[in-house]
Parts: sequence; structure tokens; C-alpha cells
Amino acid sequence: MSQPTSEICYGPMKSGKSRHLIAQAEAMATQSRAFLAFKPRQDTRDGCFIRSRDPGSRSVEALVINQAQEILEYVTLYQAHPQRFRTRLEGLCPQPDTLTLSEALTGLSPLVACLIDEVFLLDSALIEVMNSLIAQGISVYLSGLDRDFRCEYFPLRDYAEQGLTMQQVIQACQKSYLLTAACEECGEEAPYTLRLINGLPAPYHSPTILIGDEEYQARCQTHHALASQPVYAVQAKAFA
Ligand SMILES: [Zn+2]
Repeated sequence: MSQPTSEICYGPMKSGKSRHLIAQAEAMATQSRAFLAFKPRQDTRDGCFIRSRDPGSRSVEALVINQAQEILEYVTLYQAHPQRFRTRLEGLCPQPDTLTLSEALTGLSPLVACLIDEVFLLDSALIEVMNSLIAQGISVYLSGLDRDFRCEYFPLRDYAEQGLTMQQVIQACQKSYLLTAACEECGEEAPYTLRLINGLPAPYHSPTILIGDEEYQARCQTHHALASQPVYAVQAKAFA
């Protein structure tokens, strides 16, 4: 058996992070290697699926969790009664063009991996959960934004108590991959995400997570930095 690994792919919106996880899932399904997939409840856009914008890509069914700790609970449940666990998953989220978890567990073999999407929405117990999975011989594949709309490392959900951000999650992984998107202003490589509210860059002090009438764009350093400055500074530059 190969050594378990922990890997994260991170980057801005629209950089193909979910596509990367889906490719891992498809490869494991082809090799009949059992895995579970998870996503935080807070990410409600796609229901119980890991989805990519890539039209050729299947979605992957995922168990929706509130807290990182629930991942270990699901793993324990599967290991105790694989058949019963798999039966309960059948028809969980029926949808065409989906790699289902009951398909992922067809062989009822020991789990080789857990896939977790949008990890920046979880709590800091994620790091202990990862270490525990590795100790059990289970690999962990993560994906998520590394930085918020201000370009600062995304604070984990319990940041106020624990002080951890995505920086510590990335450091805790054995391998990390930064994915970039194309800047929606100039097409150059974009490592950052900009939030627009009614078409204007969001104020620095607006909440890190917003559900509402906002839009996110991938931006290069130049076009993120310009947009993040107060409007008068941009105007002054234009007249310089
Ligand atoms: Zn740009």
C-alpha cells in the first residue's frame, strides 16, 4: 500500500480547484479505490456536489458537513459497517452526470482517501482531522480559496478563538499547488479574487463571507491593487 498523502490545491475563484478534485475522484473510481467526498454546508451554491465549471466534467457527490470533526465520524461509520453505510448513500442526491459515493464505495474496500472541497469554510479542527486520517492510512485531498477578497489569508471559521487561517492549512499539507485564473481585466495570470458589490470593489471592512448581490472576479496583482485603493487614489494616479 502506498503511503498516505495530504495535498491541497488553492487559488482564486475560477482557477479550476474543483476540477482538480474531481479528476482525483475519477481516477480513484477507475481504479476501484474507495473514497469519501465532503463539502461544508455553508457553500450552498451546488447542494451536495463538488462541481466544476468545465462542461465536460462530471460532478462528484459529497457529504455535507457543518464541522471538520464530522469527517472522522463518517469514516468511522464506514469502516464499522461498509455495506450498511453504502446502502444508506444510494439515491442520496440523484442527479445525472454524477459520480456518486455509492459508486465510489462499490468494492467496500478500506478507504484510501477523503476529498474535501471549499475547506476555507471549515473550522480549525480540520488540521487535526487531516493528521488523524493520515495516521489511519487515508490520504487527504483538499481544495479551496487561500485568500479572501482583500488578498489576506482566509480566516477559518473559528478564527476568533483559534487564530488559524488557510495559511496554516496549506502549511500542514505535504504538497500544495497554487492554481491561477485569467485576470478578468487584462487576461494575465490572476492569483487573487476581487469582490464587486453593484459593480464596485467591496470596501475593505465588509464581511469576509457574504451571501447576496455580489460578484467575484479573478484579478492579477495590478488590477486587484488598483481596485482595492480608495477611489480618489485611483483618480489621482490617472491625472499624474
Ligand atoms: Zn489584470
